[in-house]
Amino acid sequence: MRNRMIAGNWKMNKTYTEGVVLAQGLAKELADGTGDVDVVVCPPSVDLKGVAEVIEQEKAPFALGAQNVYWEESGAYTGETAPDMLTNIGATYCIIGHSERRGYFHETDEEINKKAKALMAHGIVPISCCGEPLEVREAGKHVEFVVDQIKKDTEGLKIDDPSKYVVAYEPIWAIGTGKTATADDAQEVCGAIRKTLAEIFGKETADGIRVLYGGSAKPNNVAGFLEKEDVDGALVGGASLKADSFAAMVKAAM
Ligand code: PEP
Repeated sequence: MRNRMIAGNWKMNKTYTEGVVLAQGLAKELADGTGDVDVVVCPPSVDLKGVAEVIEQEKAPFALGAQNVYWEESGAYTGETAPDMLTNIGATYCIIGHSERRGYFHETDEEINKKAKALMAHGIVPISCCGEPLEVREAGKHVEFVVDQIKKDTEGLKIDDPSKYVVAYEPIWAIGTGKTATADDAQEVCGAIRKTLAEIFGKETADGIRVLYGGSAKPNNVAGFLEKEDVDGALVGGASLKADSFAAMVKAAM
């Protein structure tokens, strides 16, 4: 059985000080625990240490995730962060392949694949994002577009424990726009993702991999997505920036 997951992507929001306050607020909101729901908070890299300290001090029921990683171990890669640096600071998850990184920073599927391998070699769980732009959706080619991303992003990966690899389907046209995909839209693509994962890794492994939906997910719509067979949770942007709205989404998933 797959535990549901609610992951918050703070993107480039919250200073160190603001991040600590938000993490403290979330720890308070979730003080009674999160049941079987795995909760992950992904702050900007300069906030990771502060949030790690809050998690430890408050015994907060959420895990720490980064928003990006570089695949090399160390060296002359100015501005980058190695997997070992994330492990050392207490991060156990890392978002990769977000459409903003693919778009603004020209990240390719080949790079995303290298990042996944590097993270998994260090015991960090990738939250690997995929999703189609509006023109692909309008042309009716969204399923094949996303399936192609999945194949490239997972090429050569070895998944021994399916709970240690997470996919997030985020249609680009629904991110930060207030336009959500319908729950049926999400199921169509998340179902195709699971089918593709089954072809690559076998049914048993695919059945254990969490597939999240992301794109203007909010407290008032998340339950509808979670009812769908192949939607195991949400990757949340805007609504993760307030402790009460993010906590409400976690509670909706419990
Ligand atoms: C995201 O960027 O991962 C995201 C889902 O953002 P939002 O919830 O704000 O659409």
